[in-house]
Amino acid sequence: MASPGAEPSIFSRIAAREIPATIVAETDHIIAFNDIAPQAPVHVVVTTKTEQYQNVGQLAAADPALLAELVAVAERVALEHCDGEYRLIFNTGASAGQTVFHVHAHVLGGVLEEGTLA
Ligand code: IMP
Repeated sequence: MASPGAEPSIFSRIAAREIPATIVAETDHIIAFNDIAPQAPVHVVVTTKTEQYQNVGQLAAADPALLAELVAVAERVALEHCDGEYRLIFNTGASAGQTVFHVHAHVLGGVLEEGTLA
């Protein structure tokens, strides 16, 4: 869980339209937008609109239906933007490259350079 009283994450601020982003898909609970520093021809962040879960393990344990909704949005984005062929990456923990501690997936599509993992 995020700490009570903590500042909203950058992704919460995007979901609240406080920070601009190119939004490519949205449901009541999930939002998807182009990554500001793309590492592939298609690079979309798919995240929950609220930030009670820091990572995919927490989300899976607490709300598997919400995780399924997040993955369904990722699939829809990939069908629309890269013919349904994509990598879906959840970085978990700073040493694994996580910099925003608000659960999110990276949808990476297009022609990737060999070894690219985001
Ligand atoms: P992480 O490293 O797995 O936590 O992924 C965080 C991602 O958020 C990185 O790929 C960043 O480039 C991306 N990011 C950070 N700030 C913004 C923003 O304001 N708009 C869109 N993407 C962002």
